[in-house]
Amino acid sequence: MEINKNLQIILDKIHSAEIKAGRIPGSVKLMAVSKFHPVEKIVDAIKGNQLLFGENRVKEACEKFEKIYSEYPEAQLHIIGQVQTNKVRNAVKISSCIQSVDRLELLEEIEKQCVKLNKSIDVLLEYHTAEDSKSGFTSENDIQKALQLFEENHFPHITVKGFMTMAPFTEDKKLVRSSFVQLRTLKEKMQAQFPGLDLNDLSMGMSGDFEIAIEEGSTLVRVGTAIFGEREY
Ligand SMILES: *Cc1c(COP(=O)(O)O)cnc(C)c1O
Repeated sequence: MEINKNLQIILDKIHSAEIKAGRIPGSVKLMAVSKFHPVEKIVDAIKGNQLLFGENRVKEACEKFEKIYSEYPEAQLHIIGQVQTNKVRNAVKISSCIQSVDRLELLEEIEKQCVKLNKSIDVLLEYHTAEDSKSGFTSENDIQKALQLFEENHFPHITVKGFMTMAPFTEDKKLVRSSFVQLRTLKEKMQAQFPGLDLNDLSMGMSGDFEIAIEEGSTLVRVGTAIFGEREY
């Protein structure tokens, strides 16, 4: 019940932020980040019509979503945390998108595992925009290299959909906004350089900052705490 109420509050806030920013209503999707929360809570959210989830650890994602898919095949999962090379196979198996691609070798491995599993998958390229974050490509040059490989159809089982970032954990709204602006600017630049690719997805914004992210062009907000409550680590 609580989860359903929280989902409704977040959806209303997303709607208001879209209107306020002059965005098309419905253009921002909500992902429920369920890391560290049990299957029962995820099922509550599914019953409340929330079908897209995010997990940041592959092992935990597999344990939970193998159960969930067997009952709710309509549920969708994206991986949003750093993926070690030896976890790629399971990450590909359990998800429809890996949002946290942060190196070229990871793309090679994803392609390799997709071939073995006879599966296609979406990815986002994670860009490092915050001082205090450890994740994401730090070099725009490497992102260009990756996109070049996509354009040359080097990864036939992978579709690149756009970019992801994490803003810094700070009360300083200007810093947070600057992180989102960096991602949008990167997207505009890359889209101009690679017109053959469709780089429309901008995954940015979490519980504390999703409204700013929507103002700056987010198409997907990743909300955990504001839906499921505090995590118990
Ligand atoms: C945990 C996490 C979120 C959700 O954070 P909240 O502050 O709980 O909304 C979003 N994105 C990523 C990559 C995360 O790891």
